Amino acid sequence: MNWKKVAKWSRLLVLVGLLLWITYESYMHQALGGGKAPSIHALCPYGALESLYTLFLTGSFIKKIYTGTVVILVLTVALAVLFRRSFCGLLCPFGALQEIFAKIGQKLFKKRLIIPQKVDRLARYLKYVVLVFTVGMAWYYGTLWMAPYDPYAAYSHLSAISGSLKEDPLAIIGFALLLITIIGSFLYDRFFCKYLCPAGAFYSIIGKLSPTKVVRNDSLCIHCKKCDKSCPVNIEIEKKEQITTVECINCNECVLACPSKGALEVQVAKKTVHPMVMFVLVVGLFFGTIVVAQLTGNFEILPLSVAQGEVLPVYEVKGYNTIEEAATLTGLSLDDVYQQLAIPQSVPKDTQFKNISALVPDYQFDVAKANAGGAAEGAASTGSAPTSAIDVSGIKGSMSIQQAMDSLNMNSADFYALFKIPETVPPDTLLKEISTVSPGYDFQQIKDSLK
Ligand code: SF4
Ligand code: SF4
Repeated sequence: MNWKKVAKWSRLLVLVGLLLWITYESYMHQALGGGKAPSIHALCPYGALESLYTLFLTGSFIKKIYTGTVVILVLTVALAVLFRRSFCGLLCPFGALQEIFAKIGQKLFKKRLIIPQKVDRLARYLKYVVLVFTVGMAWYYGTLWMAPYDPYAAYSHLSAISGSLKEDPLAIIGFALLLITIIGSFLYDRFFCKYLCPAGAFYSIIGKLSPTKVVRNDSLCIHCKKCDKSCPVNIEIEKKEQITTVECINCNECVLACPSKGALEVQVAKKTVHPMVMFVLVVGLFFGTIVVAQLTGNFEILPLSVAQGEVLPVYEVKGYNTIEEAATLTGLSLDDVYQQLAIPQSVPKDTQFKNISALVPDYQFDVAKANAGGAAEGAASTGSAPTSAIDVSGIKGSMSIQQAMDSLNMNSADFYALFKIPETVPPDTLLKEISTVSPGYDFQQIKDSLK
């Protein structure tokens, strides 16, 4: 058996399989809603990285992140420590998408285009800037701050572009970056991975600790440069004795392309490992751990369901829930849900909340929830503070509720209603940390809606 061919095809099959699976889950998420199919954020380790600060500070996850997301993050970090960026080279669906378009591009243009070395070298640092900036913002606001600008998230929303733009017009940036990634991948290999991906930057840094590297034996090398031509991140392997650069994604394509036996090998702690064994180790460790986590009940990628005994207050229902589901989730009768969320009786019970405004243009789900929250806490909420005359641009997440009220010269009831803050949240809470005591609360989103 030609194990080199088996290893090459196994890598491609796993990458394409994961991309197809992610595409299917994304479609189902849009079609059925977040309660029934996981969002891309729940399946992407970067979401867990964005959630870490909130998790350490409060012990809870930010919206759309679950135990399964953290398991994937821990696993991919372990893979980076052991085998460098093997997640990027062997498992990432977005990397697979780029490789597919690169292959089509190479067929069309009959050659691989390379960005001039000076530009390429500088541009590769961009991904570290993206990493620091996006994680910083996510930790500061306690939200998936990068979501609207994320081309991977945009890919998962391709079946619902208009709905996504309606929900958050900034998502246009994510779709634009997706288009740039696809066009870039047509022309250059792994365009997004090399220059923009913050997750790739994160694994690059951790991969520095790894004992895995590609080693070239100059006495056996015939200098055919087949390794250089096969490398998807354009490393000049033929000029080096060892590939220690953080750019290497441990795909082993160079080792598989090398025609001279023993000239190019992948080594772990100075021991040669066949690319097929490397592939089995990485994929086995990844999926094996997920299976164990699932069997032991530690791999949650969906919101807690009623089946697990969870009953939500009515203001915690989501836009993807139908009215009927809300009744089940809250334990209320259908009539009570219609009444508490001020839904006109003409709206069918199988309508998702996010779609009610399509039937009743004046209906505002967020306002209805805020009013229902006030009622549920046993206090009246004004719900409709006069927002137009109030300039909220000076209100920052780092302010406490009290400081923000003072700076706007507002009384407590009006301020809480304006910013839709549940009344149980104490006034000394920082605005950016409300989500930690009231999960689902998104200060930045509410502030933006008031501008
Ligand atoms: S660099 Fe980013 S997009 Fe590329 S393979 Fe790694 S995680 Fe995936
Ligand atoms: S050097 Fe080899 S293993 Fe590393 S990315 Fe390039 S082809 Fe893959």
